[in-house]
Amino acid sequence: MGFVFTDDGKEIIIGDPEKNIQQSVESIKQSVNYLVRDNKALRSQIKEYNKDAEIQAKDTELKSVRDHALCIMSDKESKARRAFMERHYKSCGNAGTYIYELSGTGIGTVIKIKCPVCGVEENITDIDSW
Ligand SMILES: [Zn+2]
Repeated sequence: MGFVFTDDGKEIIIGDPEKNIQQSVESIKQSVNYLVRDNKALRSQIKEYNKDAEIQAKDTELKSVRDHALCIMSDKESKARRAFMERHYKSCGNAGTYIYELSGTGIGTVIKIKCPVCGVEENITDIDSW
């Protein structure tokens, strides 16, 4: 093994190339061992995962959300609401106060949003979601 000095005085050790390769191989083997260990741990975690219990817990959570929400908007309605709010934030400086009107029809809910600053109202109902 030898060494050289760079222009700024740093010492660079020049090792035995064969030894460097062996060290690299050892390092790679170590990484593989870690991956094998992680793989075993994850497989064990998957084995213990109780899919039915998780699904049932999520169903209960969803039922609770539906029971407590006045209305659950479709993606289209949610986008229309956000677009309305952005327009009125820019046009009349409304930073977040809006009036909603929800009318149950038996087959779906009509959703209207109104800007209290300028008085403009928009029906954002997505009838396709009924
Ligand atoms: Zn407005």
